[in-house]
Amino acid sequence: MDHFQIIQGVMHAEQVPLPVIAEAVGTPVYVYSTATLRRHARVFREGLAGVPRKHIAYAIKANPNLAVLRVLADEGYGADVVSAGEMRRALAAGMKAGDIVFSGVGKTREELAAALDAGIGQINLELEEEGHVLAEIAASKGMTAHAVLRVNPDVDAGTHAKISTGRKENKFGVPISEARSMFDALAGLPGLSLEGVAIHIGSQLADLAPLEAAYRRIGALVEELRAAGHAITRVDLGGGLGVPYRAGDVLPSPADYGAMVARVTADWDVELMFEPGRVIAGNAGVLMTRVIWVKPGVLNPYVIVDAAMNDLARPALYDAWHDFAAVRPTGETMMANIAGPVCETGDTFAMNREIDAVRSGDLAVFRTAGAYGATMASTYNSRGLVPEVLVDGDRYAVVADRIEPATILAAERVPEWLAR
Ligand SMILES: *Cc1c(COP(=O)(O)O)cnc(C)c1O
Repeated sequence: MDHFQIIQGVMHAEQVPLPVIAEAVGTPVYVYSTATLRRHARVFREGLAGVPRKHIAYAIKANPNLAVLRVLADEGYGADVVSAGEMRRALAAGMKAGDIVFSGVGKTREELAAALDAGIGQINLELEEEGHVLAEIAASKGMTAHAVLRVNPDVDAGTHAKISTGRKENKFGVPISEARSMFDALAGLPGLSLEGVAIHIGSQLADLAPLEAAYRRIGALVEELRAAGHAITRVDLGGGLGVPYRAGDVLPSPADYGAMVARVTADWDVELMFEPGRVIAGNAGVLMTRVIWVKPGVLNPYVIVDAAMNDLARPALYDAWHDFAAVRPTGETMMANIAGPVCETGDTFAMNREIDAVRSGDLAVFRTAGAYGATMASTYNSRGLVPEVLVDGDRYAVVADRIEPATILAAERVPEWLAR
């Protein structure tokens, strides 16, 4: 459910008509709904009502905008971060260091040290050597690092290959069969408190079965580690819950997910960590765009919009579907392809799709663009970085400026030997 609805013929974000934002800020522009973010944060938490000891760390990479993080901090969420840059955002948004999880397969020594200095609550180790390095850095500072070991449960999440992370050939985690010996090697090190295990098998999961299979493997591993004398006090179950990208898509709800988790983990006796990203932010945002041309095509016309693959990469990257809707729908539809101005055939949002009829100059939105949208933007084709707007009821604010191509150009220079 979201708060982007047609009211008296015009799409609104909550109570703000989208044309008002287009007029003031220009297009393309990401628009986020505070009410939707809050609703998703609450529904996810309520879904886990049957889980007694839990901590929710929003996966910042889905949408790291500072204002979005502030809303989620208000909702009592911590953060899952994968770089020092994300860590600084979480702290700047007011999230408590103790509520932050630091994940990532390539944390540098500098990032590990920064995490310790900031008092990060949990560091997710990706290999044994990282555990030794973290212990050494912590010991040299007279500190103790709180860590868990990310394991790879070797399950197929059934999602797009580029967002699948839990198969044995993926780069993430350690093989579950080696977890025990790594615990033996790391558990007693000064400077390191190894407290449990973590998994994250992929994103946009449309089915709970792979998650349940992975969680059962983790449950067995917890038993094995305890039998070997290790104290296991926390398990991080990662993120991955999918969202409906197409009207009519049916996905497992947070309540379905929570019921499965409560059932599978009932006798684990640990604190559970959750890292939802997409399910919180996905449907809380749209990318608003203006139609530049409707260009005749061989089969269907091309609706050329002013948003492109550099603004919203998911269709080019993952063949992802985003519903497209007119801001002032007439009730008529047309068969069309939708593409951006970038000089790549991959800069195509849809082919042979029935969409709201639009003409040049019309405003439209790509829905479900709140996660993995603005944050993946680039400046390819010397386009600017798209701005972001947060709506709350009848008010709105620009929460990230448009970065103009001139600003990007200003950061480049010609070396002296090429000077004219
Ligand atoms: C990306 C990621 C998440 C969030 O995934 P979603 O599918 O957006 O919920 C959680 N944990 C880790 C370690 C991640 O890399």
